[in-house]
Amino acid sequence: MSGKTLFDKVWDQHVISEIDNGPSVFYIDRHFIHEVTSPQAFDGLRKRNIRVFRPDQTVATADHNVPTIDQHLPIKDKLSRFQVQKLAENCEEFGIQLYGLGHQYQGIVHVIGPELGITQPGFTIVCGDSHTSTHGAFGAIAFGIGTSEVEQVLATQCVLQRKPKRMKIEVNGPLAKGVLSKDIILYIASKISTSGATGHFIEYTGSAIRALSMEARMTICNMSIEMGARGGMIAPDETTFEYIKGRKFAPKDAEWDQALEKWRQLYTDDDAEFDTSYQFDAADIVPMITYGTNPGMGIKITETVPDSPDNTKALEYMGLTPGELLLGKEVNHVFIGSCTNSRIEDLRLVASLVQGKQKADNVQAMVIPGSKQVEQQAKQEGLDKILEEAGFHLRQPGCSACLGMNEDKVPAGEYCVSTSNRNFEGRQGPGARTILASPLTAAATAITGRITDVRELI
Ligand code: SF4
Repeated sequence: MSGKTLFDKVWDQHVISEIDNGPSVFYIDRHFIHEVTSPQAFDGLRKRNIRVFRPDQTVATADHNVPTIDQHLPIKDKLSRFQVQKLAENCEEFGIQLYGLGHQYQGIVHVIGPELGITQPGFTIVCGDSHTSTHGAFGAIAFGIGTSEVEQVLATQCVLQRKPKRMKIEVNGPLAKGVLSKDIILYIASKISTSGATGHFIEYTGSAIRALSMEARMTICNMSIEMGARGGMIAPDETTFEYIKGRKFAPKDAEWDQALEKWRQLYTDDDAEFDTSYQFDAADIVPMITYGTNPGMGIKITETVPDSPDNTKALEYMGLTPGELLLGKEVNHVFIGSCTNSRIEDLRLVASLVQGKQKADNVQAMVIPGSKQVEQQAKQEGLDKILEEAGFHLRQPGCSACLGMNEDKVPAGEYCVSTSNRNFEGRQGPGARTILASPLTAAATAITGRITDVRELI
């Protein structure tokens, strides 16, 4: 019998029972909720007169509907205000810890989980949000669920799941200067497409992945879903343990030692088999950008827009033509933020690039920290001053600008270089044209006002 993959090990520890030819009853260690996908689930519980089974394993935050400015004022948008209020009422009624608007731990759910030490190796984690895959960077099985499943987990702390296939994506070698983990994942998505990992759970491995910080690993796992995967994970190692140690909800003292012993078993056995495997060489990866309307439509920043009949609709929406070079193209908006790239490391990278420079007049550049803690840390380190002096607007934590909520919209027809994970039609507002890139590429573009190869600035 062959060995087990990391995924198999965590999966097997959490299956409560298997149904013949059906899904397994799968135990969930941590359940994150937010204002968008939880209201109907709570209504369902109320109708059936059911309490939340494990409120102590459930954590809530307000992220999708919170505006990124003036968070001390009542939310202007009626629907956003209602949803954030409803979350607070539901959490109060059902005894769930809420990091709501104004709380020192509020932020994007996939940023606060890891930074509070709630996300831990070997856990199973769900949230009614597809980018829950982010938490897989810690060696957790983490995936997004639908509203009815949110209700299922609130009621039982379990969810019905079919076991996905296992995929290995290996990236080896050192990364070149100016190339970030965002470039790695955009490169992989461009190679295997947005459906290339459908039905699979990915494990990322190889020396290039091992060399990444936890923040950078989260960026990789975050975008697993953009290739159709159920989720993505990375085996925990010293980098992981170092990141978790001392965080608010991390195990302490003797419990830390016990946890470490358990976590060190979380790796793929040498003789384990994967259903699908890919191997990439880090030397082939350069700064990447997208030209189309899904994250798999990516090119090296020095390449031209590919000519393919499959691109016609996307290029029409994006106002681009086959053979066009995006490098040097004028843009009006730069958005640095989202659950993909809004952590302190991202802000540090951006600040180090723009320090002493000025953004171009034609660009509005906003930096949105992923959480109150990131915002606080940025201020402590003086990053806020560096960014403001360079003409970047440091705003307040939330998702709003990633998905065009409240007033955080890009006007129709205008280009926005975004560090987020989705460039779908209308993602940042009706008619908005989103170009995905790394925080360094986005910052370099804001400085010149044109899509820029960051390697020219460093
Ligand atoms: S930042 Fe964007 S992608 Fe991430 S959870 Fe929020 S809305 Fe979703």
